[in-house]
Amino acid sequence: MISVHACPLAKLGGRDSGGMNVYVRELARDLGARGIEVDVFTRWREKDDPRIQPLGPNARVIHIASGPLGYWPKINVYEHLDEFTAKLMAEVEEQGRTYDVLHAHYWLSAKVARTLEQRWKIPTVQMFHTLGLVKREVMDEDIDGESDVRIEIEREAVRRSAAVVAASAIELGELRRFYKADPARVAVIPCGVDPEVFHPVRQADAREKLARDQCERLILFVGRIEQIKGIDVLLRAMALLFFRRPDLRSEVCLLVVGGALDPGDEAPETEKILELRRLVHEHRMEANVSFVGSRDQEDLALYYAAADVCAVPSLTESFGLVALEAMACGTPVVGTRVGGLQTVITDGESGLLVPAGDYEALAEAIARVLTDARLRMHLAHGARDRAEHFTWRRVGDRMVELYERVLARPTQELKV
Ligand code: UDP
Repeated sequence: MISVHACPLAKLGGRDSGGMNVYVRELARDLGARGIEVDVFTRWREKDDPRIQPLGPNARVIHIASGPLGYWPKINVYEHLDEFTAKLMAEVEEQGRTYDVLHAHYWLSAKVARTLEQRWKIPTVQMFHTLGLVKREVMDEDIDGESDVRIEIEREAVRRSAAVVAASAIELGELRRFYKADPARVAVIPCGVDPEVFHPVRQADAREKLARDQCERLILFVGRIEQIKGIDVLLRAMALLFFRRPDLRSEVCLLVVGGALDPGDEAPETEKILELRRLVHEHRMEANVSFVGSRDQEDLALYYAAADVCAVPSLTESFGLVALEAMACGTPVVGTRVGGLQTVITDGESGLLVPAGDYEALAEAIARVLTDARLRMHLAHGARDRAEHFTWRRVGDRMVELYERVLARPTQELKV
């Protein structure tokens, strides 16, 4: 596997580390447990990380030093891709190792895969996780300054990969519409959730463990603190909720989990968090909103269980692991009708869906879940039932099938 900027062992919830890191980690572990050897090549970002780290039986992470250590915007990671590819190739060839399949994650890895598939004459399975042209549709500006080069690389990857994995039928549609993908070479494989980590816990126990029993009703947001996650829309929705229902101001709290804010972290608060704090101040919600910082997944399970509702107000979402994790914990989700969220959540049965960016609709849906205990119970049951369909084991089954299909095809058919 190539996952240039998302190390499967990275701390989650900070800048550039979220669902993709979890995906690579869980898939590599599942494949390894089946006896399939997996090496995940990723950029060396943290100086204390060992060069080679085990992920589980038969699976390991290999860090490749390319450019300086530390966090970098993706466009700068891109500038060092040739170095990454050359070092990766040299290491593998020196040791005489060979691979059967390349599995590339995200557009940065797609670029590396183009060189490796040519050289080693092996097929690539590509997964984008998010698509540049889809992101461009919903963002006001190209914040990462990466779009043109990224889209070109994505187009080439769609043309040349032996197979592309989409996380939902919606992503398949986007690949066809925006990138002219051949549907015969796209496999739709939804993501998974680990039921050992994410399962229901009594709400009162979770709140007590987290020392969060002072608020009567809890709304939870989990994710990277970025515009695309719609957190500003959620804050505006809360402000509207308090304007319409002033009685709720003394009862409702929002916990924002994610962002590099924990005490051990030296990274300064990002500009986005400062902007959000200003929004909180403007609407006099300091007593209602806490920025908790990143949490590991064991802790997160308690946060989901403590919450009455988990808000996933994303502007776009290729899949939305947070929604699935909340559902597995029996917590109703109010999400936006975008990307994979609309395939995971059945509106009115396993959560509520609202249009992206519509803070009035979001406020109304959150108010319904918070104030209607019967609806909350109904959605909680529906959410748990639905989440049972999504396991990493199932993702692994489908992926192995896909690898086998790709390997069974004659090599000349793989390159179009
Ligand atoms: N996450 C975490 N700690 C945090 C914030 C997020 O472990 O403080 C994890 C969360 O459990 C989920 C992932 O990061 O598995 C986010 O995935 P999602 O698909 O929701 O969003 P993405 O980051 O891919 O946009």
